[in-house]
Amino acid sequence: MHNFNSGPSVLPQEVLQQASEAVLNFNNTGLSILEIGHRTNWFIDVINEARQHVKDLMQLSDGYEVLFLHGGATTQFMQVPMNLLDTGETAAYCDNGIWGSKAIKEASLFGNAFVAASSKDKNHTYIPKNFQVPSHTKYLHITTNNTVEGTQWHQLPEVNVPLIGDMSSDIFSRQVDFSRFDLIYAGAQKNMGAAGVNLVVVKKSLLGKIKRPIPAIMDYQKHIEAHSLLNTPPVFAIYVAMLTLRWIKKEGGLAEMEKRSIEKSNLLYSTIDSLSLFKCHVAKEDRSHMNAVFFIEDENLQNKFLEECKAANMVGVKGYRTVGGIRVSMYNALASESVQAFCELATYFNQKNS
Ligand SMILES: *Cc1c(COP(=O)(O)O)cnc(C)c1O
Repeated sequence: MHNFNSGPSVLPQEVLQQASEAVLNFNNTGLSILEIGHRTNWFIDVINEARQHVKDLMQLSDGYEVLFLHGGATTQFMQVPMNLLDTGETAAYCDNGIWGSKAIKEASLFGNAFVAASSKDKNHTYIPKNFQVPSHTKYLHITTNNTVEGTQWHQLPEVNVPLIGDMSSDIFSRQVDFSRFDLIYAGAQKNMGAAGVNLVVVKKSLLGKIKRPIPAIMDYQKHIEAHSLLNTPPVFAIYVAMLTLRWIKKEGGLAEMEKRSIEKSNLLYSTIDSLSLFKCHVAKEDRSHMNAVFFIEDENLQNKFLEECKAANMVGVKGYRTVGGIRVSMYNALASESVQAFCELATYFNQKNS
């Protein structure tokens, strides 16, 4: 199978192998990973290793804490403002697509969500540049990769307020100066493992500044004090994330992930741009290396192409339900052979049908 799913998505074969072995017999304990207590040394070793991999890959200073929390990235849309934005205060947001606009909606439940930049005027086919963020805003929130629209921030915005990034769909796919961020979050199921756990990396100095009482399970500080063991964490999802992080490091870290994803996405975009039937509307300099979104204008022809993909064992190439078109997701674990196979099929299809 060629797995172009947007999330949950392709994982390294060896991670799947190791995870399935651990379901039957975890580290020769005679117990399943699903059966061990979260406060055992067995699991403490797992979560500590996962945390260490994150710190190493991101080259984080001691000012940052690494948390593994329940819920998807959607939970963070609410948890970020709940912890950082007091009633009456203002936070700045970039509206660059579906996920960012959901984050804005949630933030406005807690304070004022100010849209500092939007790409709505052109159907979210570009990343806004040179916008101003008022200095009284508590933070600026961006979605570093717009999974649905196929845009990516290749240059981080220069701002003088704390920067917060939803990195759900490009986490650990490239080298980033992570110290530019004050808080980063990502659901695991796109580049980091199985659904069910969120990675949250937060600068400690950002916390404890608001008056609102926060329910314990939503309070970052409580999770920091408890080392992500405030309640039963998603044990298995954290285990799969740990294995995936271990794999990323072993393969050569973020430099290698970036090299591979540039190679894959360059091949994909140059092929699509060369074919008369296929149209990618995303501005060239803002195209995502993770999710390529494009169209065949004739809908019948597009459906025919999607059928041919299916017949060639390619899954997940249908665009997001509200956007339509074709979406090819090229996460870390996707082999370059899969992108080559897709490009060959698209080229053949173009020859036959144009
Ligand atoms: C998938 C995704 C989300 C939502 O993740 P859930 O785990 O379904 O809550 C949020 N933001 C981005 C950028 C995503 O790609």
